[in-house]
Amino acid sequence: MALIVQKFGGTSMADPDRIRESARRVKRELDRGNQVVVAVSAMKGETDRLLNLGMAINPRAGADCPREMDMLASTGEQVSIALMAIALNSMGFDSISLTGRQVGVYTDGAFMKAKITSITADRVKKELAEGKVIVVAGFQGMDPNDDVTTMGRGASDLTAVAISAALKADRCDIYTDVDGVYAADPRIVPQAKKLPVISYEEMLEMASAGAKVLHTRAVELAAKYNVKVKVLSSFDELPEDITVDLPGTIVTSEPDSIREDVLVSSIQRTTNEAKVTLVDVADRPGTAAKIFQLLADHSVVVDMIVQNVGAGGEADLSFTVERPDLVRIKKIESQIKDLVGAQDVLYDDKISKISAIGVGMRTHAGVAARMFEALGKRGINILMISTSEIKISVVIGEEYTELAVRTLCDEFHLTESVK
Ligand code: ASP
Ligand code: MG
Repeated sequence: MALIVQKFGGTSMADPDRIRESARRVKRELDRGNQVVVAVSAMKGETDRLLNLGMAINPRAGADCPREMDMLASTGEQVSIALMAIALNSMGFDSISLTGRQVGVYTDGAFMKAKITSITADRVKKELAEGKVIVVAGFQGMDPNDDVTTMGRGASDLTAVAISAALKADRCDIYTDVDGVYAADPRIVPQAKKLPVISYEEMLEMASAGAKVLHTRAVELAAKYNVKVKVLSSFDELPEDITVDLPGTIVTSEPDSIREDVLVSSIQRTTNEAKVTLVDVADRPGTAAKIFQLLADHSVVVDMIVQNVGAGGEADLSFTVERPDLVRIKKIESQIKDLVGAQDVLYDDKISKISAIGVGMRTHAGVAARMFEALGKRGINILMISTSEIKISVVIGEEYTELAVRTLCDEFHLTESVK
């Protein structure tokens, strides 16, 4: 008998029919002879609705009364755990719902972005031993003062992985509205391959490069405690035969079976960044430190950085930031110029970042060359480059985003051949 944690997101909990449909997935796992702990999100749109209610009374409620915003937002999951338990009971299972506090999900006191400090799960273990199906509220915990906290948008994934780690579950199934993780966004590349298995590391790089399947902190936690995660759909037809494993993508540590021959497993893009260039800054020790300290002081998060040294002891320094941060940079533009003697500050928000990700890069040379050549052949100019051990990212003109993603999927064989 295995212990499986099953997490259902907002779209899988959207209305009574969808909740029943999700409950059938729980039933299937129970019928297979396994123990199940269910973690759920609020019903689709509910967390937004609740937070908007708070902000309708005070637009600054998040800043002025974060404790109350958490009290408010946490009710979304409280509704859905009860509904899921009602569904399971009506199917003949003995099921009970538990809030974060009842489970013993302890967090720090940072309202709206709390971090889990420990999980006791005593109650869960006790109820499981009595043969019950437990339904746990995602997203919420309890701080040292006994106050309700929430852990940031989308954090029900985190709850599910944390519970899996605490209970040493055999697997953590994340049910969503897509049937796995794809090599590229199917809206751009309809033939993109579905990945049967990927490593935590690749998943993390994919998330930072634009993929929106799993919550980043959840993947980090899964990696830390070696929780095997599976992403699958609660919308697909269920096979009659309960012995058949449902299709999906397994996220795990790096098993040998991770395709030796695959260099690149995914192409991602982000289009929410902008490039800032400081023209002719003084090329002497300490300049970069001053600039990036000033930006950090203004909470600007910098991603890529490139410096070109020109003649005459002056350098151009370019970096990328999230587009909304441009406003903050423009406000301190003259301060930046004075600080490092820059002649000018140029802005370009018509860029996108394209990334190729794959653990295969670690052991194979030439991936970057292939990537640049494929883009070059299509007339796509590369403005900036950055690399990590398993990722190569380039900044290009925004208008080439889709062409670049398609080109690289072709280059690295990431599409299914059309039958
Ligand atoms: N309900 C929360 C949110 O919408 C948590 C989650 O869905 O994961 O952010
Ligand atoms: Mg989610």
